[in-house]
Amino acid sequence: MQVYIMADMEGIGGIVLREQVTKGTPEYAEARELFIAEVNAAVAGAFEGGATRVIVRDAHGSGWNFPPEKMDPRAEWVQGSVPAGQRFPGMGEETDLLLLVGYHAMAGTAGAVRDHTMSSLTWQRFELNGREMGEVGIDAAFAGYLGVPVGLVTGDDKVCREARELLGDVETAQVKEALGRHGALMLAPAASRKLVREAAARAVARAHSFTPFVVEPPVVVRIRYTGTEIVDAIRTDGRQKIRLDGQTVEYRGDDLWEVLSMALWG
Ligand SMILES: [Zn+2]
Repeated sequence: MQVYIMADMEGIGGIVLREQVTKGTPEYAEARELFIAEVNAAVAGAFEGGATRVIVRDAHGSGWNFPPEKMDPRAEWVQGSVPAGQRFPGMGEETDLLLLVGYHAMAGTAGAVRDHTMSSLTWQRFELNGREMGEVGIDAAFAGYLGVPVGLVTGDDKVCREARELLGDVETAQVKEALGRHGALMLAPAASRKLVREAAARAVARAHSFTPFVVEPPVVVRIRYTGTEIVDAIRTDGRQKIRLDGQTVEYRGDDLWEVLSMALWG
């Protein structure tokens, strides 16, 4: 049983503020300890649930947030920047399940901690085949293309709801109830870790009950950007990359990975 964990920071217990997820601040120094501890809880749960190999990708910002000495030695870790076009280095045919740990709700979600989709600065709204999604949807679609289902999503109440609405019977671990973009009714870190560990174990134990999230072609991605200057910098061609209005570009094609790659990496 091979398990892949994508780890983001905004949905970790104890984290609500922008400073906590921004390198170079005293708040960040503390938050990265919360991050690795909760990710390790997911790793521990995955092994308890029956995993024989666990690969974790540090997917927040530059991809270098885990203090190396704290990383669970049973897992393998993807850190640093990943080449454009790759989303899950180390994921392959033998991968059984994807766990999304520390995720956040899509851009524009009301009352959600640190809601955004890919970039708060440049992306306002993302749609895949007519359905608005966030990073849970994007990663579920990428993994679904590889035949790998999502078994667990952890974060605030809004991302857990978003995950259930999109993926149905997925395991969730709600480590905070969001009050707004910068505030939450929070569990203590130790309580968050317990929830995440138990949920990861449950997800891996029932890995075979999840179905990959498969997007049927033709694939149409629409992104509304935050400003016209961002779209001015995109080389639209009227066929695969179509500027629909000042701030919106549509990306089209038959291959999901190719279309998402165009949208994410140009
Ligand atoms: Zn992040």
